[in-house]
Amino acid sequence: MYDWLIVGAGFAGSVLAERIATERDQKVLIIDRRPHIGGNAYDKYDDAGVLMHQYGPHIFHTNSDAIVEHLSKFTEWRPYEHRVLGRVDDKLVPIPINRTTLNELYGLDLKTDEDAAAFLESRAEPVEEIRTSEDVVVSKVGRELYEKFFRGYTQKQWGLDPSELDKSVTARVPTRTNTDDRYFTDTHQIMPKHGYTRMFERMLDHPNIQIMLNADFREVRETAQFKRLIFTGPIDEFFDFRFGRLPYRSLRFEHRSLEQEQFQPVATVNYPQTEDYTRITEYKHLTGQTHPNTTITYEYPAATGDPYYPVPRPENQELYRRYQALANETADVHFVGRLATYRYYNMDQVVGQALAEFRRIQESVPMYDTP
Ligand code: FAD
Repeated sequence: MYDWLIVGAGFAGSVLAERIATERDQKVLIIDRRPHIGGNAYDKYDDAGVLMHQYGPHIFHTNSDAIVEHLSKFTEWRPYEHRVLGRVDDKLVPIPINRTTLNELYGLDLKTDEDAAAFLESRAEPVEEIRTSEDVVVSKVGRELYEKFFRGYTQKQWGLDPSELDKSVTARVPTRTNTDDRYFTDTHQIMPKHGYTRMFERMLDHPNIQIMLNADFREVRETAQFKRLIFTGPIDEFFDFRFGRLPYRSLRFEHRSLEQEQFQPVATVNYPQTEDYTRITEYKHLTGQTHPNTTITYEYPAATGDPYYPVPRPENQELYRRYQALANETADVHFVGRLATYRYYNMDQVVGQALAEFRRIQESVPMYDTP
C-alpha cells in the first residue's frame, strides 16, 4: 500500500514525489508510461556520446531565487545565456528583433535606442482594437517585419494564420531597440551541470520513492494500492475524454549526429520563412560539452503526436474549464503540471506550481489517515 501514487515523472510529479517522501516521510509510487524519468526535459548521451535533449531544447531560466534554491539540492549549474539567430532573406540575424537585426536586414546604421524606436514607429501600422496575434505584431513593427519574422513561423508552428490566433501567442515575443541579443532576460539563466536526467535521478533517489517506468495509469490503477493520487497527465484523458479532446499542437523531432565539431554559431537558428522545420538546435552550446562530434535537432510542427502546446483559442479554454470543474469535484486527486492544467508552462513555473501544491497538501491533507 502506497500513501501516494504519482502519475508522470516530469518536473511536476518528481518535485512532489521528493517533497512528500522527504517532508512527510510517506511512501510514493511514481509511474511514467515513457521508458525514462524527466518528462519532456529528459536528456541523454546519444550513440556518439553527445548529451542531447530527446524532446527538443530545454533552457532553464527564471526570476525566482526560491526555485533555483530548491533545485540546487539536486544539481550544480553552469551559466548559460541562450541566443537565437533567424535565417531571414539569406542572412543570419538576432531574434528577438533588436537594433542589430534592423541594421543588418536593411543595411542601416541605427546608432541609438531612439533611432531604432523611431524606425519601428515609422513602420508600425495603427490597429484600432488589438485582438489577434497579427494585430499585436503589425501594430508594433509593421507588416513587412511581420511577414518576414512572424507570419510564416506562426503558420508553421500552429497550422493557423496569426490572424486566427489569440493575441496572447505573440504577445510573448519582445522587440528590442537596444543590441541585447539574449533570448531571455531573467535573473537566473543556468543549465544543470550534468544534465536534467541526472538532476531527476538525484531528486527521486529516496528510500520512500519507488519508480515504475513503461507503466500507464490505466493499467497501474487496476493493481496498485494507494490512498491518494497526483495526476500530471492530460486532464481530458483522466476523464476518458468525456467532453471531447483538448486540442494540442505537436512536434516531430529529427535528431542528427554529425561528424564535425560545430554546426552553427549559436544554440538555435530559427527558420521563419520557407523551410518545413521551424528551428535547428545544436546541444553543445547549451551543455558546454567538448566533443569531436555534434548533435542537432530539426523541429517539424505537427497536428498529431505527443501533446506539446495547448492551442490557445478561447473555445479550448472553455472546454478545459469544464474538465477543471470535474477535477474540483474529484476528491483525493491532485491535478498538477502542464498537461493536467492545459497550459503552456516553462519548467520553472511547473516547479513553482508543484511546490505550491505541496504547501496546500501540507495544510489540508492529514498526515495519518484515521482508520
Ligand atoms: P511533462 O514533462 O510532460 O511530464 C509529464 C509526464 O507524465 C510525461 O513524462 C508523460 O509520459 C507522463 N504521463 C502522462 N500521462 C500518463 C499516464 N496516463 N500514465 C503514465 N504516465 C503518464 N520550458 C522551459 O522552461 N524552457 C525551455 O526551453 C522549454 N522548452 C520546451 C521545448 C519544447 C519543444 C516543449 C514541448 C516544452 C518546452 N518547455 C520548456 C516546457 C517544459 O517541457 C515543461 O514546462 C515541463 O516539461 C513540464 O513538466 P510536467 O511535469 O508538467 O510535464
